[in-house]
Amino acid sequence: MGSSVKNHLGSYHTLLEGFLRQGYDFVFFKEMDKAGSQLALRHDIDFDTHFALEAARTEAALGIKATYFFLLRSHFYNIFSPQDFENVLQIRELGHTVSIHFDPVIYEDFHEGLKREIAVFDACFATGVDIISLHRPNDFFLQFDAPIMGVEHTYQTKYFKEVKYFSDSTGVWRFGHPFESPEFAAKQSLHVLIHPVWWMVDGASNTDKLVAYYNQRKEFLKSEFFNNCVPFREVYASL
Ligand SMILES: [Zn+2]
Repeated sequence: MGSSVKNHLGSYHTLLEGFLRQGYDFVFFKEMDKAGSQLALRHDIDFDTHFALEAARTEAALGIKATYFFLLRSHFYNIFSPQDFENVLQIRELGHTVSIHFDPVIYEDFHEGLKREIAVFDACFATGVDIISLHRPNDFFLQFDAPIMGVEHTYQTKYFKEVKYFSDSTGVWRFGHPFESPEFAAKQSLHVLIHPVWWMVDGASNTDKLVAYYNQRKEFLKSEFFNNCVPFREVYASL
């Protein structure tokens, strides 16, 4: 944890401390009421469960709880692989909620798709699913205010429009920095979406971070090839 600016967004720890100092109470989505000063902290895990675990530890050390949403059908990670599976379990053991980051457009019938993903998630982690987040929702789903198969999602009006929403999608504060908002000054309730990848990789810009992360993954893939495929070892050094 160096003091130099390694991350153009600043440190994740410092961000969380700022909310605590303002008196925010970190809650799960279903605990939100009209009381104010509540913060539903959400993580959509698009890339990497290791960064998610890092964020989860930082939060737990500060007594903060968050909700983590994982993709079941991603090219970037696999919650059934031993390491990703273990990371999800550890995040839950730290006191956070784990659930499904759902991509509705990959299904012909997204209701049926969600039903299947919930069954799989439950079989794997022995946990019910009472709220999901949607992966890259299109306009149809951004306006979709009803629960899906009786399960709430984070773009419903009560979570998305009735409380101020902040997001670090694309690696920048898309709706301004929360600390500079009138809602923060007035201690109104907030919904904050954090993608851990933007906070756990060093870089002076979002694209610097992506390059660093891409290179990390390339090296990892190379070692996986090496470990799992004998003939690959003949060409390993030349790649
Ligand atoms: Zn996503």
